[in-house]
Amino acid sequence: MTQEKTTLKHEYDLIIIGGGPVGMALALALRGGGVSVLLLEARGLPEKTEDSRPLALSHGSRLILERLGVWKPLPDVTPITTIHISNRGGFGRTVMTADDIGVPALGYVINHHDVFRSMHKALKKCDVDYLTGAQVTRLEASLESGQIEFQHDGVMKKATARLLVLADGGRLTAQIEGVTQHVHDYQQWAVVARIKSECSPKITGRGGSEFTRSPAQAGVAYERFTPDGPVALLPSGDSFALVWTVSPSAAQEILALDDAAFLVRLHDHFGDRLGKLVEAGKRSGFPLTLKYATPVTACRAALIGNAAQTLHPVAGQGFNLGLRDAWELADEVIAAPAETGVPAMLARYRHRRRMDSSTGRVFTDSLVKLFSNDDFVLGSMRGMGLSALDCLPQAKRFVARRMMFGARG
Ligand SMILES: Cc1cc2nc3c(=O)[nH]c(=O)nc-3n(C[C@H](O)[C@H](O)[C@H](O)COP(=O)(O)OP(=O)(O)OC[C@H]3O[C@@H](n4cnc5c(N)ncnc54)[C@H](O)[C@@H]3O)c2cc1C
Repeated sequence: MTQEKTTLKHEYDLIIIGGGPVGMALALALRGGGVSVLLLEARGLPEKTEDSRPLALSHGSRLILERLGVWKPLPDVTPITTIHISNRGGFGRTVMTADDIGVPALGYVINHHDVFRSMHKALKKCDVDYLTGAQVTRLEASLESGQIEFQHDGVMKKATARLLVLADGGRLTAQIEGVTQHVHDYQQWAVVARIKSECSPKITGRGGSEFTRSPAQAGVAYERFTPDGPVALLPSGDSFALVWTVSPSAAQEILALDDAAFLVRLHDHFGDRLGKLVEAGKRSGFPLTLKYATPVTACRAALIGNAAQTLHPVAGQGFNLGLRDAWELADEVIAAPAETGVPAMLARYRHRRRMDSSTGRVFTDSLVKLFSNDDFVLGSMRGMGLSALDCLPQAKRFVARRMMFGARG
């Protein structure tokens, strides 16, 4: 259902375009911050959204979601206590445990649609003007304000704000003067599904595995690099959430297989680490591109989340980065509401996000390029790198903190 706001204004301090998880996080972070906010989401029924992708969240993201009041209502949160990284068909592996790093969990796996619904519910209860089924079609900016046109209930409407925030996944970036969108198509798709295995792993010593006969996942996340791309099995409830990177043509084949043939193909690809794979849930496919905007601000406009950077899911960084975009933008606005959207405020936001965003992007893109090929020399370097990381506790702690808290980790 769309939320009817009979008191909708024409002028706001901020208009957020796109009510995906990052746009919603920003609106929630601005609650009670002394600024008026309009959030517009094109999709009509967010509470019914089914998006089967799993999200691996860092500890830092958990803290943000707790502060937004949307962590507790999540129905299904699985802590990651061990990460097992390996290289198919080569030597070298590394195992990172929460104990090694001295934290209760290395991260958490949640469902995309759960966080989406939890935020949607929280927004319906607060002072933000929130319209669903509202598609922004045009935007422009002058020195004093940003103006938008949007379609809602078949009617064209207009509104202005001191700051337009694009949280639309990058769909309207071309309309922002002075911002360039860089796009690289990885020629890969991610196939996601829930998977149950026959065995539960127990990690031993230097990354070897022993199995117990139980269907539980024991908090272990597997990231396995193969020449076609990485395959991840993340612990999720009593099963695993699969993110399997394949070529576009293989994705179509895999999506069309029946469950039994799919499980055999996945087992052949992933190996016998988890024993027999016995159950598969609904499968979905996502095309993978790297997309990023430079700069992430323009006259009376700021870009956050996937609109600022859309990353390959290999390192599970996209939403974590987007949440930090939203949190830090809200912090800038609340610190000086009168300066919302002025060049100095936008420069501060851009400066705060530069390091985190670019290191997240370069790290993720390098992983894809380094690990998605069958070059013999690179394969040996990968193996050596994983083995070296396994022997260096300081390096492991560095990588883990980087994944948990971003560049400031
Ligand atoms: C397979 C897969 C696995 C992933 N795993 C992880 C992970 O483990 N960890 C992690 O951190 N990240 C992960 N990600 C990335 C993560 O899903 C995204 O970074 C995150 O969903 C981005 O959210 P967003 O709100 O910025 O953008 P989107 O989710 O793209 O939301 C944009 C919203 O804007 C709306 N919109 C678009 N145009 C308009 C318009 N004109 N008017 C109004 N509304 C509009 C859309 O309807 C949409 O709701 C994964 C991604 C994939 C594909």
